[in-house]
Amino acid sequence: MPRRRVPKSPRVVYRTARSRLRVTRGQRRRLLALLVSAGDVWACVLELNAWRRARQDRPLVSYQALCRELALAGPGTFGELDSAGARSVLRRYSDAWFAAAKRRKEGDRTARFPRRRRALMPLRWYHGTFTLAGRRLRIPVTRGRPPLWVRLDRHLPYPPEQVRSVTLVYDAGRMWVDVTAEVPVARYPAGQEPDRAWVAGVDLGIIHPYAVAGPGGRRLLVSGRAIRAEHRMHLADTKARRKAVARRAPKPGQKGSRRWRHYRRRQRLAEARHRRRVRQAQHEAAKTVIAWTVARRIGTLAVGDPRGVLHLDAGRRHNQRTRDWRIGHLITVLKDKAELAGIGLQLVDERGTSSTCPACRSRIPKPPGRVLACPACQYTGHRDLVAAANIAARAGGGTTPAIPAGVTHRRAGAHLPGVAPSRRDPRRRAHHRGAHGSPGRHRPARASPPKLARESLATPVRSLNTARNYRQVH
Ligand SMILES: [Zn+2]
Repeated sequence: MPRRRVPKSPRVVYRTARSRLRVTRGQRRRLLALLVSAGDVWACVLELNAWRRARQDRPLVSYQALCRELALAGPGTFGELDSAGARSVLRRYSDAWFAAAKRRKEGDRTARFPRRRRALMPLRWYHGTFTLAGRRLRIPVTRGRPPLWVRLDRHLPYPPEQVRSVTLVYDAGRMWVDVTAEVPVARYPAGQEPDRAWVAGVDLGIIHPYAVAGPGGRRLLVSGRAIRAEHRMHLADTKARRKAVARRAPKPGQKGSRRWRHYRRRQRLAEARHRRRVRQAQHEAAKTVIAWTVARRIGTLAVGDPRGVLHLDAGRRHNQRTRDWRIGHLITVLKDKAELAGIGLQLVDERGTSSTCPACRSRIPKPPGRVLACPACQYTGHRDLVAAANIAARAGGGTTPAIPAGVTHRRAGAHLPGVAPSRRDPRRRAHHRGAHGSPGRHRPARASPPKLARESLATPVRSLNTARNYRQVH
């Protein structure tokens, strides 16, 4: 239920941060029991409505009616789960049901009402029912049970008074909490606020997740090579794992062994880690774009939307590439961060923007590399930046000169393992035979000492110079 806000109060947006929970075994058992109880509540509602349907009765779907049923069940029906947590499951069911009903009414026959049971369901508690003290979180439980305090893995990016809800989630064997906060939209001192009339074009790509062209010929290129490397390593790693266990895979209908279950668990962990890494890198890339935009007082971002052509089949390699791209996520994170920074964002049709010369507007065949060269007017420029400039021109930022006045280069995913020599990626082969752990920094091979020694004996005065020359040559 949305809270009623004081009129004319500053604009706010809702943002969610995820933190892992550090729990003891006992705490983990209690948290899992809470999620299982939530799954029981969900199953109860499904069953209740299955009976009603069998009786040709109207389904019970409104939140208030479901809460009345819950109150009739009495305390203690769902273990340690308190009524606020149980009601959050009812809210989830009600929202899902009405969303499906709305989509079906609009003619979407693929929309399904909630039917599937789940062993674990996420639980949400609203402001006032939980306590957040620094990194400690008290999760409410039913009356008469000992309090359940857990520890967050990191500091939250929001001050505690902004936090509106916490959601307990289970993902790939780990407990997480999603903390949602009410964050005020950024306000700037007079003379520094972004100007809506200044438009920057954004081209979304695979090699460069964001290429931005602003007014005055200023450009930003965010490199996504680390993200692409992460995708490739993950694909190779998954294939190798699958190949290694293919002989042990259970036949259809056969029960998997314990060893197989362990393999499946490790696979889920690796998948989840990969997803987190890509997600984080894309968030950081979007953050870079917004910081660059705010520093230049650009008030509008025009983003070229390529999603119209993604359903076309382009062969298995390119299909994999476009799926890895996660274009929807790239647009969403940029939109969310732009909104928080008080910058407008509009989607523009990007068709033809990467094959038009920005100087003479003639059509150019797609270049094989990153450099676009116009045969008509001899203009050359970076392909993605040209596309970004054309997108900006389409959204009314027509003042972009063809020659860039300074390109800022940034990297996305600088934290990914394998990018810096200090963080070794276990999926990469060790650089040296027999090496364990980190191979360390690459150093050039040592100069052979006997030759140097002989020379220094023969000409003792020039020995230093010789040694220096030797080093320079090699
Ligand atoms: Zn041209």
